[in-house]
Parts: sequence; structure tokens; C-alpha cells
Amino acid sequence: MNLRIPGPIPVPKEILESMSRPMINHRGPEFKEILYRTTDRLKQVFETKGDVYILTASGTGAMEAAVVNTLSRGDKVLNVTVGVFGERFGEIAEVYGAQVETLAFPYGTAVDTEEVRKVLSQQPDIKAVLVTHNETSTGVTNDLEAIGKVVKGEFDKLLLVDGISSVCSLPLSADAWGCDAIATASQKGWMLPPGLAFLSFSERAWQAHAESDMPKFYFDMAQYKRYLEIGQPPYTPSISTMFALDNALDKILQEGMGSVFERHATIGRLTRDGVKGLGLSLFPDELVASDTVTAVKIPVGVDAGLLIGRVKEDHNVVIAGGQKSLSGKIFRIGHMGRTTDDEIEQTIAALAKVLPKVGFKAARVPAGG
Ligand code: PMP
Repeated sequence: MNLRIPGPIPVPKEILESMSRPMINHRGPEFKEILYRTTDRLKQVFETKGDVYILTASGTGAMEAAVVNTLSRGDKVLNVTVGVFGERFGEIAEVYGAQVETLAFPYGTAVDTEEVRKVLSQQPDIKAVLVTHNETSTGVTNDLEAIGKVVKGEFDKLLLVDGISSVCSLPLSADAWGCDAIATASQKGWMLPPGLAFLSFSERAWQAHAESDMPKFYFDMAQYKRYLEIGQPPYTPSISTMFALDNALDKILQEGMGSVFERHATIGRLTRDGVKGLGLSLFPDELVASDTVTAVKIPVGVDAGLLIGRVKEDHNVVIAGGQKSLSGKIFRIGHMGRTTDDEIEQTIAALAKVLPKVGFKAARVPAGG
């Protein structure tokens, strides 16, 4: 099967095999070594001298951790959104009692930093900004470096980032870009199964933690910090996924982050060119299109469910639909991790075969397409 959804992604065989090792004591010396080694290497990937914690959770857990460890009830926060996952970040903050101000940009577009600057200068009581680096629901990558320059550089606010579908796939530098907490999850560019989430946590985040009164127990970073000092996780970790993480980080750092980013940029381009070649339109403006997930408009007259179903049934290629209000309007092709040209070409070929069978008008295909 060619699994082309934006996570979980196909996991290389050697990494999967590393998960079949027998269990070990998570409070013993062998696990301590793995925990220290993986934590150190995660810091290299995040480009941070601050902390990175490994949670047994999905990405949403790490988003929740970013919120509850830095904010207090009643704090005013600015949630800058470009899609469904950005909205989720705001919902989490609201559930825990923050006063959420939303700056929403239309689906398919990216954050306009000038607008962020405007809101922050008009509302000086905003304590933190929440933002999604790569919005998986719309296939858009925000210019996080530029956002960081405004949020941290000009206004010195806390910057909490959903980097779930970007860290380890797209360039991102936690410290240089002023990010205080970045959440990500194992089933994305890390080439791992779901099960672990990683959270970077800056010195400034720790200062905020000292004042934070939001309720927290499982996700209280103070527990993670205390236990890391003795080489243990506070609670029972997903040991098998930790074996896999250890193995994946070996491969990722051996390859080098520059090459990992370049690989994603190349496969992103190949995917966009492929769908455009079929006469389809990208959902986002190509200038802000993501290199980890490509969102494509469902052409007029085509039923999204039928298209996605036939691509799977006839060609064994699994693509994703749109979420919430985008359901039926777009489909998405994931290309995180070690995606091959072949896998993308197979996906494009499957679409080329199925589209005419589900109502796509061949007249829309450009000459030679
Ligand atoms: N944010 C983004 C940008 C995502 O891509 C996802 C997962 N698709 C999430 C949040 C939620 O992550 P999880 O499903 O691991 O909780």
C-alpha cells in the first residue's frame, strides 16, 4: 500500500524492526542511556540549547502541554490561525481558561505578519501568541521566522508553536526564531509510528511555568524536568517507540538536517508539479504551499469521496480528504519522511487514471498534460 496521508507515514522497515526488541526497565540504566541520547539529538533537530521533553502522547498532547505549562487562567492570548489545527490550539487554550483573541486568515493563505504586528500593538495585554508552523489541513507553511521576529523580536511575547507537521521536515530553528515551546509528534517527518510527542521548552517558558496556574498533572513539565535529572521519564513511556526513535535519529542525523530539508523541498515540488500536470489546481497559493503535504482542489463535478475511494480500491494509494468545512472540497497528499519519487509518481498516475472515471472533464487537462 502507498500510504500518502499527512501522517501516520510509512515507517522504514529497519525502524519498525527496532520496535520488536524485548521490553526493558524504564527505570534502569539501559533506558537512561536511550533517554539521554535521544533527548540530546532531539535538541539538535529543534536547534535549541533549551529543553526538549519526550511525552507518550499524540501531538495534541504536546500542544496541550505547551498551553498548560506556560499560561494562567484569564491570560489573554492571540491565536493566529490559517486552518483547522490552528483553531484546535485556540480551543485548548480556551478550555483551560485563557482569554483567546483570534486572528484568522482565510484557509489556503498564510499568516500576514503585518496583521500580527497590528494586533500586538493595539492590545499590549496579550501575553502569548499561538501559531501553527505548517497547517496540515490546508497545506500551507507559515513564515515562522518572520512571525518570531515580530512576536519575540518586537513585542517580546511568549511564542507557542504547533510544529507537528514541520519539525524534522522543514527548516525550523527554535532558539534563533524565538520559539518558547514547539510541539511535534512522532508519526510525521520523524519516520516513526504514532505514540510519542516532543516538546521544546525555553528558559522563558520555564519562567512562565513558575507563574502558570492552569491545571496540569500528566503534562506538568516540572515532573519531566525533575525525572530527566535522574535519567527517567515520570510515567511509563512507549518503550518500543523509544527504540524506534533512537534508531530514526541515528539515520536522520547521519543524513544531516540540510539534506532532510532539501529532500522535502524536492518531493514537495515534484508533487505540486504532478497535480498541476493533471490539470488540477493547488488549494493554497503556491508561494506558501507546504513541502510536507499538498492540498488540491476537488474539481467541479467530481465527488471527493468517490475519487479518494477509487484511488484506494483500484490502485492501493491512500490519500486524505479535507477536514471539517474543507470536506469534499480538497484532497491531500502527504509527503513527509522518506518519500520516494516513485511513490509520488504512482500517486499521480493513480489520479490520472481515476479522475476521468469520476467526472473530471478531460477538456480541463492542458495540452500535453
Ligand atoms: N497539528 C497539526 C499541524 C497536525 O498536522 C496534527 C495531526 N495531523 C495535529 C496538530 C494533531 O496531532 P495528533 O493527531 O498527533 O494529536
